Amino acid sequence: MLRPLLDLLLPVDCGGCGVPGALLCSDCAVLLGAPVRVYPPCCGADAPVYALGAYRGRLRTALLAYKERGRRDLAAPLGAALASALLHLPNLAAPGGSRSLDADCGKRGLDYRSLHPERRGTGVCLVPVPSRGAAAARRGGQHVTLLAQRAAAALACAGVAAAVAPALRVAPGVRDSVGLGVAARQANLAGRVLPRRAGLPAAGTAVVLVDDVVTTGTTAAACVAALLRMGVDVPAIVVLAAAGCHSLS
Ligand SMILES: [Zn+2]
Repeated sequence: MLRPLLDLLLPVDCGGCGVPGALLCSDCAVLLGAPVRVYPPCCGADAPVYALGAYRGRLRTALLAYKERGRRDLAAPLGAALASALLHLPNLAAPGGSRSLDADCGKRGLDYRSLHPERRGTGVCLVPVPSRGAAAARRGGQHVTLLAQRAAAALACAGVAAAVAPALRVAPGVRDSVGLGVAARQANLAGRVLPRRAGLPAAGTAVVLVDDVVTTGTTAAACVAALLRMGVDVPAIVVLAAAGCHSLS
């Protein structure tokens, strides 16, 4: 009964096209489909990269609205899309038959430490790609972590033990990578993606690195390397959108 009233008082517009009535309308939501393997130039050798869509048009608009323009309410539909994609990935589907996602699932993701010890070894742990501290402060928080939390909550509703492990951080001194070429991006990040020991997932947990957008793959590669140095294997990287010179298979 309250929802129509809330919609009246707090109308929402689609983050992709602006049509009123939904956070992400059905025409824009379909731009996030099943995960497709992509091949960014700097990543993929250690872990396959999967994207749900192409970083252009209305999807790009929606992701920019979420990341840069304060539309944090888009975390729910974007997180649900990420969760649906994770259910498609090999080795991550829940045992016991097909699962489906409930759009009204819980609002918070689980902390990985809340997983029962016996399930830590079989659950899915989402490790968000960290933003620079200054960027996160300007945006009001780590936007990929929030995305991962929403995805984990949706997965948990589908019966998949899922949690978020904030296992990485960006050291001070890293500058915004926008406009930098591959070599400059690599130099910018060299040795500056660091583990957060308190946030590392338990040994044996299936870890998926998640991000909103992949371009050159430099950041993802640095994250995978940092996790590998800590003995954490990364069987897959999943992003909402892929930008630039990627070849889809
Ligand atoms: Zn739309």
